[in-house]
Amino acid sequence: MRDEELRNLAAACAKCGTCRTVCTLYPERKAEISVARGKIALIDAALSGRDGNLGAIEGALSDCLLCGRCERACPNQVLVEEILMKGRADIAKEIGLPAWKRLLFGKVMPSPGIRAAATAAATAAQRLLAKSIPTGSGLHYRFPEAFGLSGRTLPGFSAKGFIASLAPGEAATGDVMLFVGCVFDHVYPQIGRASYETMKASGKEIAVFRDAACCGLPAMASGDRDSALRCAEENVRRLRAAAPSSVVFPCGSCLVMFRRNLLTLIPETHPLRGDAAWVSGRCIDYASFILDSGVAESLPDPSGSGGDGKIGYHDSCHLSGTLGKGREAREVLRAAAGPAFAEMPGADLCCGYGGAFNVRDYATSSRIGENKVSLAARGGTGVIATACSGCILQMRDMAAHVQPSMRVAHIAELVFASLSRR
Ligand code: SF4
Ligand code: SF4
Repeated sequence: MRDEELRNLAAACAKCGTCRTVCTLYPERKAEISVARGKIALIDAALSGRDGNLGAIEGALSDCLLCGRCERACPNQVLVEEILMKGRADIAKEIGLPAWKRLLFGKVMPSPGIRAAATAAATAAQRLLAKSIPTGSGLHYRFPEAFGLSGRTLPGFSAKGFIASLAPGEAATGDVMLFVGCVFDHVYPQIGRASYETMKASGKEIAVFRDAACCGLPAMASGDRDSALRCAEENVRRLRAAAPSSVVFPCGSCLVMFRRNLLTLIPETHPLRGDAAWVSGRCIDYASFILDSGVAESLPDPSGSGGDGKIGYHDSCHLSGTLGKGREAREVLRAAAGPAFAEMPGADLCCGYGGAFNVRDYATSSRIGENKVSLAARGGTGVIATACSGCILQMRDMAAHVQPSMRVAHIAELVFASLSRR
């Protein structure tokens, strides 16, 4: 491996070990290699030629949730997430990516049309392979052992995504643009719809970004920076041409891609750099829009709607941790749910999803996630609200494991319910 930029980023690490005290994975692994310091030491070894076993190093770098707790705690402001993602990309360039990742990130994710076709195929396949579970919280595969999917609960894919459900011409123009994201378009279209309808309550014209590419985060986190860059370029070109005053994201992970990673992927020398900075500066989270546009204060008084602190808020690592937007989401929840909202224990603990980590090591991902949901339930929480697609996928699955009565909702669904009481 030869990468001067990566070498410089890794050189900022003083090997102090603070990251070990906060790492989500360390209590599970109890191994130095699971924490940022150990992973950076491996990158150092690869860069200096002391360790040439790139397959093993790739395994160690991928054994991470990219939760960012280490980066936020680091006294030296080491850019751990960027180091790990860049390290994965350098290794992928040398030893290659698995064929399924090349297909998913290179072909499916950048194209809205291919994504819709893939969702339709997945919906049809689910009818054959999966069955509903009694709680109604999702689906289980009929043949779990054969597919290596024992215990996993999947959302039931909708035949029609949110964007496909829009009437012709509906949400086609507007000064404010909604970037709904792949999951809230295809997997949970009701969350896409709730986001759209509640944003419309601001009185502003809302345009839905129909031909968006994927935000690019899954590709970037997996080391496929070329595909992530293609997604970023497509989105920047189209958003710059549409010229909205703001772009609103119901998903914290999509937003972190636009607010932070976009300018890492599109460097100073890139012809789209100016446009990327323009777009990035207009990207905001859903809760900030609901507060700033007056929707929150227009909601009916929630004090008479019952509730006794049963709704908690889960801090997504990207939205609350990286972007610091936990306060805004809580303000929206207070406006929508009043006394039914109360802080839940372990609100800022990672849910254990970690994107590809959940596929790579479902058992560990589940232990972390089950602990999170159980802790909330023991504290009296009956509804976990949040604003990140990965966290919702994970916590609905975990609730089916350990607390089937637990509801996991996007804050937009709660705002939508409040609006319907007006
Ligand atoms: S990443 Fe930061 S916290 Fe961790 S060892 Fe290096 S300097 Fe210390
Ligand atoms: S990103 Fe999270 S899981 Fe990965 S090393 Fe840092 S604290 Fe540990």
